[in-house]
Amino acid sequence: MSDHVLVINAGSSSLKYSLVDGRSGESLAGGIVERIGEAGGSQTHRGPDGESRGDETIGSHEEALQWAVEAFSSYGPSLDSSDLAAVGHRVVHGGSRFGSPALIDDELIAEVKDLVPLAPLHNPANLEGISVARRLLGEVPHVAVFDTAFHQTLPPYAYTYAVPHSWAEEHGIRRYGFHGTSHSFVAEQAARLLGREPAEVNVIVLHLGNGCSATAVRGGESVDTSMGLTPLEGLVMGTRSGDVDPAILGHLARELGWSVDEIDRALNSESGLKGLSGENDFRELSRRREAGDSLAQLAFDVYCYRIKKYVGAYYAVLGRVDAIVFTAGVGQHSAAVRAASLENLSSLGIDIDPARNAEDSSTARFVSPDDSPVAVLVIPTNEEWEIARQSLSVIRPR
Ligand code: ADP
Repeated sequence: MSDHVLVINAGSSSLKYSLVDGRSGESLAGGIVERIGEAGGSQTHRGPDGESRGDETIGSHEEALQWAVEAFSSYGPSLDSSDLAAVGHRVVHGGSRFGSPALIDDELIAEVKDLVPLAPLHNPANLEGISVARRLLGEVPHVAVFDTAFHQTLPPYAYTYAVPHSWAEEHGIRRYGFHGTSHSFVAEQAARLLGREPAEVNVIVLHLGNGCSATAVRGGESVDTSMGLTPLEGLVMGTRSGDVDPAILGHLARELGWSVDEIDRALNSESGLKGLSGENDFRELSRRREAGDSLAQLAFDVYCYRIKKYVGAYYAVLGRVDAIVFTAGVGQHSAAVRAASLENLSSLGIDIDPARNAEDSSTARFVSPDDSPVAVLVIPTNEEWEIARQSLSVIRPR
């Protein structure tokens, strides 16, 4: 029986997909349909029999998936039900309801719809992806894999905000955390690299991509994470502020007359590295910083200082830390960020080997010295493989 899983990540105007061997992690094909519902669409598919690029105008997610299905039949591999074990859907918000991946049926869809107020931008797009995929590929099982699920093990004192209790009871206001598939994958790989069982190790995972989050993982379970009710809380990100004094919101409303939506947009899309320096792409920010740009330097310093504060906090949460792991675009590739955020932490047993850190490699590796009490690791994340693995675990429970 095939272990092939079609992993679908449906955004509001894009559909990303990947055909993954859930057992080996091999990516067999993949592609992206962008600017759905807008003029000037763009489509790319890579398969074993070649690459296809398009610039058609694609009106809906249904047309986008249709485009992908046709690309699969022209450039491989086959999406016949006999070759496809499951379709795995990334779903951003699973609320308190989903602590693990789940088989998609009408009841699950209704529950994910109920969670739309918690993720108004993401869950409707994820639901649209599920709906069209079930129509076009209805004969295989479909599985929902939630970004929040890995963090459902947080203890109440870590996920509870100190606000009136009724807010949580009546409106679901609590911390949920995100990037769960990445944190769970990377924490497990870290244990493997240390040659130990996940249940034996404590790690701090730093996922630094466009979105950034830190997670404290004790014995394979998430015990605290930096994102909260939404992905806005925590570390400094490409365009999101991360932690701010919540009183800033009221201040902006009173002083500038900004609406709630304007404030939301400013903190989510105009802040972070972009707000500080005008640049949210870390590579470009690095070039500017190296050329002596002071705003780029300040953005870099604020970014790394925030990471350091979370490392300190999660060190205290875990008590004993076996490894600190960097992952995602910035975490994997920026030696400068790794060095700056862990600078002067030798007294905590945290050290970086400059030569190891300077290497740019796409394999999982140590960047700390051999005798370091806390290993510092760089591990490429693979969310598609994790979604494929979790999808197989639902349709073939042990
Ligand atoms: P996403 O969160 O969208 O999956 P990624 O994990 O791909 O994003 O991370 C994107 C970020 O990683 C961008 O800011 C990009 O500039 C940065 N990045 C990618 N490659 C490098 C590199 N070689 N050096 C520094 N930053 C990089």
